[in-house]
This record gives sequence, C-alpha cells and structure tokens, in this order.
Amino acid sequence: MGNWNYGVFWDELMNQAKNELGEHEFAMWFNIQYDSSTETSISIRVPSSFYKDQIVRQYQKYLEDKLFDLMGKRISIDFIVVKPNPDEARPAQELAREDAREASEDKPKIALLPRGKSDSPIKRDKHPQLRVDYTFENFVIGDNNGFASNAALAISKNPGTSYNPFLIYGGVGLGKTHLMQSIGNRVWIESPKMKVICITAEEFTNEFIQSIHDKTTQGFKNKYRYVDVLLIDDIHFLQNKLGSQEELFHTFNALYDANKQMVFTCDRPVSELKNLSDRLRSRFERGLNVDLQPPNFETRCAILKKKVEAGRIQVPAEVLEIIAKNISTNVRDLEAALTKLVAYAELVHKNITLEIAQNQLKDVFSQSKHGNVTIDNILRVVADYYKLSYNDLKGKKRTKNIAMPRQIAMYIARDITEYSTTELGFEFGGRDHTTVMHACQKIEERLKLDPNLESTIQALVRSIKDYSSKA
Ligand code: ADP
Ligand code: MG
Repeated sequence: MGNWNYGVFWDELMNQAKNELGEHEFAMWFNIQYDSSTETSISIRVPSSFYKDQIVRQYQKYLEDKLFDLMGKRISIDFIVVKPNPDEARPAQELAREDAREASEDKPKIALLPRGKSDSPIKRDKHPQLRVDYTFENFVIGDNNGFASNAALAISKNPGTSYNPFLIYGGVGLGKTHLMQSIGNRVWIESPKMKVICITAEEFTNEFIQSIHDKTTQGFKNKYRYVDVLLIDDIHFLQNKLGSQEELFHTFNALYDANKQMVFTCDRPVSELKNLSDRLRSRFERGLNVDLQPPNFETRCAILKKKVEAGRIQVPAEVLEIIAKNISTNVRDLEAALTKLVAYAELVHKNITLEIAQNQLKDVFSQSKHGNVTIDNILRVVADYYKLSYNDLKGKKRTKNIAMPRQIAMYIARDITEYSTTELGFEFGGRDHTTVMHACQKIEERLKLDPNLESTIQALVRSIKDYSSKA
C-alpha cells in the first residue's frame, strides 16, 4: 500500500475547470474539497447529497476525462458527503430540498447567463437559446408534418433512446426550427436535470473558429460533448466548412456513444448536401430523417386560426380562408400575410373585412402565384453556387467575392419576382433601393462584356425555380 496524494492534480484540474466553465458556473458547482486519494481514486468532499447528485450527473465524466488528460491514467472520483455543520440528523431528502430551494433563491440565475454558459439544472425560467413560443402547444399537426411531429414528441419524452439523431429537412418556412425547438422546450421543462443546447450551425462554426483563435478549443469541445440534448439548426451551412465538420463529427460520436439526443435541421435531404465529408453525412443519415412538406388547405386554415387565437386578434373566418387559399407556399408566408393585414387594420383603426383583406393582400397573393420563388430561395441558391453563405449575401460585407454574387442575386430577383426595388432593398438586409438599382445596372454592363455571365445567370434562374418548386 503506497501513500497516494493526488492533491496537486486536483488543484490543477480545478484551475482548468474554472477557466473552461467560467467563474459563475464554477462558483455554483465546485464548492468542493479534496479529501484523500488511493492508487486509483480520489475522494472529494461535497456539502450535501443533493450537491453530490448534481455534480455526479453533470460533471463526473467531465472531471474524470480531464483528470485522465492530466495524469495519463484513469482515476475515478468518489464524492463523499460531508456536511459543513452537522446539526442533528435530518433526512437526506429534506436537506436536498433545502439546498435546492436555497440554490434557486439566492444563487444567480444561471439560466439567464449569456450563451455558452451552462444551464442551471434547478431554475428553469426560460432557456437562453430557445424561443418560448416554439412549443408543441403552438405547433399545428397537419397532413404535412404528422410523422415528424409524432417522432419529435416521442423524442422529447425519452431523449437519446430512439431516433438518434433526428433530422428534420424541408424548404424554408415549413416549421423545422419550430419543431426542433419544441423538443428542446419540452425537455427543458419536463426534465430539469437535462442540459439542452440549441444553436445554429453557423453559430457552432463561428464559436469553433473563435475558440481556435482564443486557444480555448478544449473548452469548446467540452461544452458540446457534455449535453443531454444538442439541437443544431440549418446544418446545410456546414457545406464547405471542413474544420467545423470535423469538429461536429467528433462531437457527434461522443454524444452518440453516450446516448445523448441530437436533433438537426437542414434545408434539403442530406444526400443533396455538397462538400460534406462522407463520414459526417453517414452520421446525419444514421437515425431518423423526416421531411416537412408545405401544408394543405385545411392545415393552413388551422395554422392561421391558431395564430389568431394566440394573438387574440379578431379576424373573420372567411378572411382566414382566402389567405389560406391564396398562399400555399409555406407557413412563414402565411404568417407574414396575416401580420401585414392585422398591422394595416390597426393602423387605420378598422375591422378586418374580406374587402380590406383582398385589397391589402393583392400583391402578396399574386406573388404567391409565381411559384415559390422567394428572395430567400434566390439568396440560398446564389450563395450556394458561389460557395458563400446566405448571411454573407444578406450581410454588410462588401468584399469583391461577396459583392458580385450579391449584385447577381439582386439582378435575378428584380428579373423574376414582382418585388419593387424598395422591397428588394429591404429583403437584402435592409439596403436602400438605389443600391438595388445600382446592382442591376452593374450586372447589365457586365453582361455586355462577359459572354459567360449570361449563361451563368440562366443556369441560376433554372436552379432557383427548381429549388423553389420543391420548397
Ligand atoms: P423553417 O425553420 O422550416 O424555415 P420555422 O420553424 O422558422 O421554419 O417556421 C416559420 C414560421 O411558421 C414560424 O413562425 C413557425 O412558428 C410557423 N410554423 C411553421 N409550421 C407551423 C405549424 N405546423 N404550426 C404552427 N406554426 C407553424
Ligand atoms: Mg429555420
């Protein structure tokens, strides 16, 4: 029997944990003391059994893995409950309840910390990354999403057990984000001990790049590898992002092996993603992939009805019907039409009538008849073609490799939609209408000089129409 003392490793481990988790989280969960060691284990004192449960659940694996990195061998951590001031014996449960109460009253609300900090297992007001209105309660189950909705409900009951990963794909505005976040919200509320992270693939990428820059990749990895439910929106963004793909691949494996639930959304079937590593593609396809279709007339009516009830607005049934009849593209357009109408009625202090609706929504209706060509679709297809992101095109950057594709997108939008230049400016990230006019002029000039541009634009228009008819 040797005389083991791993205290120095423990101290170093605590230093690292503090850096990675941040002061807040650290202060909340690492009120613990080194006690003693054996050859293969370290004993750590924790102040209550409640504390012990939490720390075992949330951090034991994390701490043991880090310890392994530090020491080069596997050492287990035993948490022993040593009450700070052992007053007369009270049932452990009572103490735990007390601790929980105390933690939720006095401690800072971790749930409201900025992104990136861990979520509190106790106080669950609102998840920092989830929209409160993206719930199952607000989601209409219709012909277009029945299977996906039921799978989502099943997953939220038992995350990580079946359908892992769950991948929802489909065109814009069909409810992918809403459905994915409904899972997050349900788990968040019903399973208070579970860690839920919800981000877009773009945020994941940016954060990853930032962590390389800041030399905090280990912290980044740990953050995403110790969650119970990981929701990543719009994974098509990962096309061409090889570093992020690699990182997500490893995150995926860690979570998959630990039976942790993953949910992804994508704007097309995974098989149609380009420049995606085969091994990540096969991971995405491993669990359950379901698509969302545009809703039929009845479902569109039901969705509008729900929105009206939720907003406590008065809209006659016949008005809802003509909106549902005329807008068949997607739910986002449906909502936009309703919002436009309600805003108008409020502005002029009038009740919404069929006549007002027909007048106010004339343009929207006629546009909807031009197939599903939306500015979003144009941006997506053009961005894809030039290996840029949708946000690059919508954003403010004016580097040459972005400016030209953006002008082409504006030119095409002007050509194949009914939008005015003012509306287009607005759709293209809040720009002025003169910017749109200038862009169209520029492209017209180029067309005269560059014989290839014409066919490029024609090909793009074909892709856009093709893409839109599937959306
Ligand atoms: P996507 O992520 O597929 O582009 P979103 O999830 O953002 O689409 O949905 C667009 C809008 O339509 C959101 O406001 C969402 O609440 C609403 N929506 C979509 N599907 C439904 C549905 N089945 N019931 C109620 N609202 C829906
Ligand atoms: Mg979305």
